[in-house]
Amino acid sequence: MKIFKFGGASVSTVERIQHMAAILQEYREEPLMIIVSAIGKTTNALEKVAETWFAGKKEDALELFRQVRHTHDDFAKYLLVREALPTEHRLNDLYTEVEWLLHDKPVREYDYYYDQIVCIGELLSTTLISAYLNEEGLSSEWVDVRDVFRTDDNFRDAGINWVTTQKQSDERIRPLFQRTKRVITQGFIGATDENESTTLGREGSDYTAAIFASLLDAESLTIWKDVKGVMNADPKQFPTAEIIPELSYEEVIEMAYYGAQVIHPKTIKPLQNRQIPLYVRSFIDPEEPGTIIHQQCAQVLPPIIVIKKNQVLLQLKTMDFSFVGEKPVAELYHWLEQVRIRPNLISTGAVSVQVCLDDHPEKIDRLASLAATRFDVQVERGYMLLTIRHPQKGLLEGLTKGQEIPLLQQNRDVVQALLKEKNH
Ligand code: ASP
Ligand code: MG
Repeated sequence: MKIFKFGGASVSTVERIQHMAAILQEYREEPLMIIVSAIGKTTNALEKVAETWFAGKKEDALELFRQVRHTHDDFAKYLLVREALPTEHRLNDLYTEVEWLLHDKPVREYDYYYDQIVCIGELLSTTLISAYLNEEGLSSEWVDVRDVFRTDDNFRDAGINWVTTQKQSDERIRPLFQRTKRVITQGFIGATDENESTTLGREGSDYTAAIFASLLDAESLTIWKDVKGVMNADPKQFPTAEIIPELSYEEVIEMAYYGAQVIHPKTIKPLQNRQIPLYVRSFIDPEEPGTIIHQQCAQVLPPIIVIKKNQVLLQLKTMDFSFVGEKPVAELYHWLEQVRIRPNLISTGAVSVQVCLDDHPEKIDRLASLAATRFDVQVERGYMLLTIRHPQKGLLEGLTKGQEIPLLQQNRDVVQALLKEKNH
């Protein structure tokens, strides 16, 4: 069995959904588990609904939700004929669930409501798409993944209960393949023991697909994207960016760590555990081979360039010109842990420490005030972090020509330079 995952961009228009069906026609004889995200930017739109409602603006939230309804009703209108009526009923049931909630007042924490509202995006998209596939002769079983994926109640970043999820997958998913070639379900969502909906973190559908690959011991996972494969840089920033045909699991984890937005970072582990290859392919050019990610990579890799924007530099100086000994360094790591923020770079000198972090303003404020108990603290904003893996001679100099580099770190595999953001 193969697992296919289609992200929001691959199903963002009627034409793209038709195109998805054309790809599936090519694989019609093979058993496929199909994971789909919410259509286009639906998740962002639903986030707005949740925020607005929680802020007490019920009417505005209902209006924003009406727009989500319209979009999905339009898709149904353009895609469906025979299945139009039953699908309309199913969509209406889903809309009603959210609207009921929006008529209430919040009594619990925001993250809980966020998940109850936002999870609807994937339920809507899969309802529409499975109906359309049925009309196209690609009959499938639709599954509510909340009946399979059991999670904890860490809303918005729920953790999987692997034992229960494996059991439910064995009981509910496997038997379906005795009577159908295709099962279609939602990425990104799950449910607690109490049947509350949960989400796995933004862009979590890749992760869902990887979990299914592991649960079903699939032959491979293919993520269909709107790019030709994994590239060695963002082509919008670097026009000479090229496709990397082959990568190891480890390289992809490293890339994600440095901020490359290729694949959701949690995706790799379940695949690696069972040695399931991951293909990243273009749904626009299905002829293109794309990228294969597996245990060993036989190829020499090109330099991989990642830019992380929105960085802040914390300059810490000892108050009395004493050396930065082991104690203040230990404390610094302890504060980072307390605030739950990961440093992207740390550089220690005789009487100063420099720390580069993602700019989450609240966390940075807390960290700065903790650090102020021991150091003189300066917070400087508006930086970006350039990382080059497998650097080649002269590349860093070329990319940073004429720019000041307040922090630079280098080892055999990686060079990292902190630079001022262009608009600062
Ligand atoms: N729809 C969710 C999001 O946009 C999950 C995903 O696309 O992977 O974050
Ligand atoms: Mg997405």
